[in-house]
Amino acid sequence: MDGRYEPVESPDDTTVFPYHDLTPPTTADVARARKVVSRYLPETPLVRSEHLSAELDADVYLKREDTLPTGAFKVRGGVNLLATLEEEFRERGVIAASSGNHGLSIAWAGREFDVPVTIGVPEDANGGKVAAMEQLGAEVIRHGPDYDAAREHVEELAVETGKRYVHSGNEPKLLAGVGTAGLEVVEELPDVDRLYTPIGGGTSAVGYSLTVGALTDADVVGVQSAAAPAMHRAYHEDTLEPHDRMETSAEGVATRVPFALTMAILRDGLADFTLVSEAAIHDAVARLFTEERIVMEGACGTAVAAALGADDIAGETVVVPVSGRNIDYGKLDAILAEYGDPM
Ligand SMILES: *Cc1c(COP(=O)(O)O)cnc(C)c1O
Repeated sequence: MDGRYEPVESPDDTTVFPYHDLTPPTTADVARARKVVSRYLPETPLVRSEHLSAELDADVYLKREDTLPTGAFKVRGGVNLLATLEEEFRERGVIAASSGNHGLSIAWAGREFDVPVTIGVPEDANGGKVAAMEQLGAEVIRHGPDYDAAREHVEELAVETGKRYVHSGNEPKLLAGVGTAGLEVVEELPDVDRLYTPIGGGTSAVGYSLTVGALTDADVVGVQSAAAPAMHRAYHEDTLEPHDRMETSAEGVATRVPFALTMAILRDGLADFTLVSEAAIHDAVARLFTEERIVMEGACGTAVAAALGADDIAGETVVVPVSGRNIDYGKLDAILAEYGDPM
């Protein structure tokens, strides 16, 4: 086992360990993951949004990932990874860095499979997400000003403790698990024209690329906040260099460092990758709350904002995942005060 818990050379600016298999997952891996995930999680509804459909003169469907336990799509990946965790880590446990929903996913799966979970979060992490992780039995460590600072701390702790580091993107099992949402979409709505997905580390986008993108004629379009464009830049400038700017208020997509594995798949998997403004994100969050009483995070508002901003969408069948609902209450309140339509 010599060196097993020491980092190996990384293809990007994050730390990877010998147990990180960086072989890109395939559509067949997603189908295999479905057998696992469907034992623990319900399928999520695909519901037509009357407001967005009318507004865009299109058929817009929302994939309600907010209805999953933990309130976000990531738990699909956590379940698939921990269900097949290497034996040596079952008692020693796993460790991950997260702005919230990745940590919640691992905490939920850790409770399900009886694996100890430690999560590193930024010091100003969303309090509701932290409380939910602790309620699920995870140990939460607060460190640093943002996700990437917490991540670097967690990567050091993984070396010291020998716990299995669950990377936020360079994990084929997470990607395959997350992709199960796309298989559900393909079964229910085979003729999608376009799917907008938010991108932070890129797992959601990879999942839809391997399913809706690979199995149908649909265009999978990635969306990031213009205030945190690390993956967007990596995609368009063919680099994996960290980005210096990360100013989005949407913590679910607040990252500075592109991931090698997700980017390798997205280079071919995406039809396009666009940016939206923070104002457009807040407007999208406010609209969905005001018009349909759907509570969504800013991270998810990116994809809704991109659909609302598209000028070539009339007549199309469009899917947008409601990727998560765990928005900080004060943040939602402030967004509604500024952008909400008082009724
Ligand atoms: C993590 C997250 C995203 C971004 O997903 P990635 O897989 O990191 O690209 C979008 N929305 C929500 C709610 C999230 O938690």
